[in-house]
Amino acid sequence: MLGLSTDQAREQLVRQGPNLLPRVRPVPRWRRVAAEFTHFFALMLWVAAALAFVAGMPELGVAVLVVVVVNGLFSYAQEARAEHAAATLRALLPSQVLAVRDGRPVKIHVSELVAGDAVLLAAGDRVPADVRFVRTNSCTVDESMLSGESEPVAKGPEDTGFGGTFLANGDAEALVIATGGRTRLADIAALTTQTKPPPSPLNRELRRIVRVIALVALALGGLFFLVSLLTGTSWRDAFLFAIGVSVALIPEGLLPTVTLSLAMGAQRMAGRNALVRHLQAVETLGSTTFICTDKTGTLTQNRMSAVELWTPQGSVAVEGTGYEPMAELDGSPAAVAAGRRLARAARAASRGRIVQREQGWAAEGDPMEAALDALAHRMSGGAAPVEERVSVRWAFDAVRRRESVVVDGELLLKGAPEGVLPLCADGTDEAGIEDAHRALADLAARGLRVLAVARRGLPPGAVPERPEEAEARLELLGLVGLHDPPRPSVPEALAKARGAGIKVAMVTGDHPATAAAIAREIGLQEPGGLVLEGHGLPADDQVLGALLDRDGVVVSRVSPEQKLRVARCLQQRGHVLAMTGDGVNDGPALQEADIGVAMGASGTDVAREAADLVLLDDDFATIITAVEQGRATYANIRRFLTYHLTDNVAELTPFVIWALSGGSFPLALGVLQILFLDIGTDLLPALALGSEPPGKRVLNRPPERRHLMDGALMRRVFGVLGPVEALFEMAGFTMLLWLAGWRPGGGLPGPEVLAAASGTAFTVVVLAQLANAFACRSETVPPWQLGWRSNPLLLWAVGAELLALAAFLFVEPIARMLGQAPPTLPGLLVALLAIPGLLAADYAYKSVRHRRSAAAGRQAAAGPR
Ligand code: ADP
Ligand code: MG
Repeated sequence: MLGLSTDQAREQLVRQGPNLLPRVRPVPRWRRVAAEFTHFFALMLWVAAALAFVAGMPELGVAVLVVVVVNGLFSYAQEARAEHAAATLRALLPSQVLAVRDGRPVKIHVSELVAGDAVLLAAGDRVPADVRFVRTNSCTVDESMLSGESEPVAKGPEDTGFGGTFLANGDAEALVIATGGRTRLADIAALTTQTKPPPSPLNRELRRIVRVIALVALALGGLFFLVSLLTGTSWRDAFLFAIGVSVALIPEGLLPTVTLSLAMGAQRMAGRNALVRHLQAVETLGSTTFICTDKTGTLTQNRMSAVELWTPQGSVAVEGTGYEPMAELDGSPAAVAAGRRLARAARAASRGRIVQREQGWAAEGDPMEAALDALAHRMSGGAAPVEERVSVRWAFDAVRRRESVVVDGELLLKGAPEGVLPLCADGTDEAGIEDAHRALADLAARGLRVLAVARRGLPPGAVPERPEEAEARLELLGLVGLHDPPRPSVPEALAKARGAGIKVAMVTGDHPATAAAIAREIGLQEPGGLVLEGHGLPADDQVLGALLDRDGVVVSRVSPEQKLRVARCLQQRGHVLAMTGDGVNDGPALQEADIGVAMGASGTDVAREAADLVLLDDDFATIITAVEQGRATYANIRRFLTYHLTDNVAELTPFVIWALSGGSFPLALGVLQILFLDIGTDLLPALALGSEPPGKRVLNRPPERRHLMDGALMRRVFGVLGPVEALFEMAGFTMLLWLAGWRPGGGLPGPEVLAAASGTAFTVVVLAQLANAFACRSETVPPWQLGWRSNPLLLWAVGAELLALAAFLFVEPIARMLGQAPPTLPGLLVALLAIPGLLAADYAYKSVRHRRSAAAGRQAAAGPR
């Protein structure tokens, strides 16, 4: 046998290095750090700093520089963390290959492959390195990623296969000739210049938000500059004012915080067996409105067992456990004898086998085929069947839906009954075929997956070239009914999907009756629900779309092309579609869907490569978990947007009042104070809000494809939170001035009075933001219903915020630079009152909203549909 021994392989691995593509040279760290200081906003801030120095305001210049540096480093750290998270996720992607070591096929990680290894490849596998084929079996390879040629290329012995291509059909044994950096793929990867992927929708929306805010900031800055000049303010003050407004409003830290939120969402998903292949998928998952799922392995466990045989001589019930080779048979001796012939043929046309492991008997290869192997054992009292000498094999594919082999002048075949029974026309009597159809209907209605098994004696000396020549005039040996238990997690997951307003359809290659029976068993559809068949789908896309657009549809016997059409039609109706697929031909449908979902445990490499989400446990319920996490992440981004924008309102208000009073009402917060609010007290809570654990209720509402900054968010920020915070701020400030004897229009108060009043305003904003951080944890419920310990990061952030506040007030040089002093007792009182004040306003807003939406809900429920 070909291949290496474990020792040889280990030795070669040391010599050749791992079979990994050399990493594209990463952008050097200094360049990435530099990028954080040279983007649009950073450049604006540099200019502001320079102008401040030129205008003779060095403190302001220094402060702006501090903002640039702190923000840049912070952004860099966040992006590095996000990138690290993404890299960790990539490493989790399963990538194994069947190699021959010590004469036995074993699964190893592709990185451990060395030149000299023999590998066994099957349809859907990725060619793991450059190889020379040794033995091939109707083998074709999709080389489009190297040559751009979309037609698969036929491969025979001595042909070369390239790493990164895919086996489209058949199977093969091959010798590895080059790995890692020595493969053709590595050459090409080195040649192609890195092209940046186009920005995702979320990214575009964020950029838009940031641009809009920045423009507003600049426009306001410019406008107030003019106003203050007109009202006779010195141009120096006017300029200071313009910079203050702009710097206060510019959301420098927004983009990196969003990226980090998405990365943490992706990490949480990975912890629940849902692996996203790029961060954007986190957000798209959150807005999913429709899920098309296949049946076998996703809704069911893919732990098959043949429980019933039908033969022309009668039926046999098989009662066994798992994949064990022993079982109880219930049937007449003639039927059991016929069943034995059937099982032998079915097994010969299969490669899946049962193997004894420490934990008991298990399937190796296709679980259904392993069940047929178990059946062959069971029909002969547990004895191991003889291994047939297969000379030709036409492997299963999703279009033919059957597999046949030639063994010693005999053709043996198994496959979907609709495809097999017509082939039996001239080899089996008509009454027999009619009986078989009846038996098929009966088995399928019980939710069993049914295979037909047939044979034919080939004329002596005949070596058929193509399956069509041999697969005719078959003698029907009988039918096998296979049981595949549903996953226990599925009914609950379906209920959750329903509660979340997501429609689910089953799209399967299986028989309509089998599919419908399973759909009813798991609660996907009621008896009488809609069951479509691939070949009977309406030709018109609009009609098909309308037909599919409901919960619980079953689409059976679909071909990969029909699957693609189903995806297109649903998307045309505006759905955000998640679609699962595991087969060789599922790639196009997975790519078409907004979220292509592949199986990590059982699916093909092709499907995984085309997917956006990989289910490490193959479980349907994991899709719902991922949707939940996606929604939660989106909610988090809205949380810190709300938090951040509220702060902006409080920062801007003093300037507006100052400008509107024509400079006669003193400025409550200086530019330096605003800068310190932004970086000293705001960064950490925003970050903590971005890592809020998902709320219990994210799945209890319909999906909304809403904008990040929609009306509700604006109303909350600019109608409630912002004004309340500003009110307390200005109240504290004015009260201190008043107590010191200042009256409006009475000239400017003394510097000491002003410092204490300004310190009060500063304290109010910090404490109100502290309360706000908790208020922003939910869009619907008050913070005291959330539990104090559910977001420990926020508690740390708040602690840090308070420390920073103390430092800014009591450390003499800092306080002097900021132009503030600790608040007096009445000032402190107002500041402390701001906490319950803001929470009360938030609570009132949430209750009103709740009552309104409940009323709207009642109205919608009562009204005509
Ligand atoms: P599913 O959506 O349940 O995964 P598939 O597309 O895998 O369905 O299979 C479709 C049909 O093809 C099955 O119902 C079965 O009749 C037939 N089939 C599946 N696997 C094999 C196989 N290995 N050999 C022969 N026929 C098969
Ligand atoms: Mg399948």
